Parts: sequence; structure tokens; C-alpha cells
Amino acid sequence: MILTLLGTGDAIGTPKIGCGCETCRAAAASGRTRLRTSLLLEAGGRHILIDSSPDLRQQLLRACSPHIDAVLWTHGHYDHFVGYGEFYRVQEMPPVYAPPPVMEYCLQFFHFLPLPPHPVEAYTPFDLFGVSCTFFPVNHPPVYTAGILLEHDGTRIAYTSDTRLDIPEKSRDLLCGVDLLLIDGIAPAGYSIHKHMNYADAVGLAESVGARDYRVVHMSHMVPFGMPKAGYDMECFRW
Ligand SMILES: [Zn+2]
Ligand SMILES: [Zn+2]
Ligand SMILES: [Zn+2]
Repeated sequence: MILTLLGTGDAIGTPKIGCGCETCRAAAASGRTRLRTSLLLEAGGRHILIDSSPDLRQQLLRACSPHIDAVLWTHGHYDHFVGYGEFYRVQEMPPVYAPPPVMEYCLQFFHFLPLPPHPVEAYTPFDLFGVSCTFFPVNHPPVYTAGILLEHDGTRIAYTSDTRLDIPEKSRDLLCGVDLLLIDGIAPAGYSIHKHMNYADAVGLAESVGARDYRVVHMSHMVPFGMPKAGYDMECFRW
């Protein structure tokens, strides 16, 4: 199983358009990016895309153009699903799995596409090509938002890119002892963002659930490159 971080940025991405901060200037000069957060999971030769970001075209090209067999959506925010339109005339539209409120919202947006919907209730594991996938509710007001637990051959990966620290106890329990936790750290320590965690919150949650390893994702341009445990675009994990 191979997991690739296709993007590790927030809704704006880094560099931010028109921003002259030190991180954005360094990123623009070096060509370094944080594209909008999404993941690619390869298992048994099949490819599952977790969130379809507005940068999807560029992300799939960077990943050597894998055929996507299924898409999972965590929530109906622009930076997590609108890239699905990039599949049009490139490959057959892949089936999409999402919790019912997410599916309902995104289907309205994509009313013009032949999108095969598969609504799945939270806390209900389903199988995709031998990978067990479970949506779990997090806390990202005001929209319904899920994280995802992915399990394959005894390896457990959990992903929640958009959430506050106070998530339901039942969801928190699912994170206990995961092999890899990918987690929201949109701003540096000390910042308080109503619907996200800051870097220190992310590190604290990863440690408190006993994650064997973790990466902070969904980072804004306020988070400098090179922070410890910061994920980076095209970072790969193999099991
Ligand atoms: Zn987001
Ligand atoms: Zn900036
Ligand atoms: Zn969001």
C-alpha cells in the first residue's frame, strides 16, 4: 500500500496569490508549493482519491496520471471536492463515496455531471479493493464534516484535514494507536481559528491518541516550510 500526499495546503494554497510574506516569497522563488490537501492511496494496483481538490489536474499529472477507481469526500467545502470536474473527458467519472449530507450538497453542485454517488453513513465500514474505509464525524462548523479511517493488511491510517480539536469521543477512539495520522494544523501555535486546529493542537491530539506517526496537513502560508512533522506535497508512505 502506498499513500501519497497530493497536497498539504489550506483552501488558499501556498504561495498565496498576491502575498508578499516571507514563506510565500521563498515558495515562489523556489517553486515549492502546498497545493490544496488531498491524498492518493494505492492498494493492489487500484487508486483511491481522498478529497478532490481544485488542484486535481496538476496533482494527478505530478503523480504520473493514475487511473482513479474511487473518490472519497470528507465535506462540501470548495477546496475538498470541486476538482472532481477534472475527470470529465479524461477517464470515466469515478464512483464517489461520502456521508449523506456531504453527498447531497456536492451532487447539487455537480448536477451537470454523470456522477455515480455512494452515500455511506458515518461509523459504517465499507470495502474498496480490500481497503476498509470508515467515515467518522469531526467538528468543522458550520458544515457536516467527516474524517476517514483507512485499514489494509493491519495498517491503519486516519485523516482529518478540517476540524476543531473537540471531536466526538467515538471518533477520537478510532484514532487510537493508528500507524499514521494526517491532521489539520492550519496555523502556527498560538493562533485560534474557530473551525480548525493550530499546529500545537494537531501535535497534542496526535500524541494524546498514541499515533505511531503523524503529519500535519492543510497548512496555511502562515506555517513556515520545514516544521517538524509537517507533511509536504508528494510525500510518500509505503507499507
Ligand atoms: Zn479545507
Ligand atoms: Zn504568504
Ligand atoms: Zn473545510
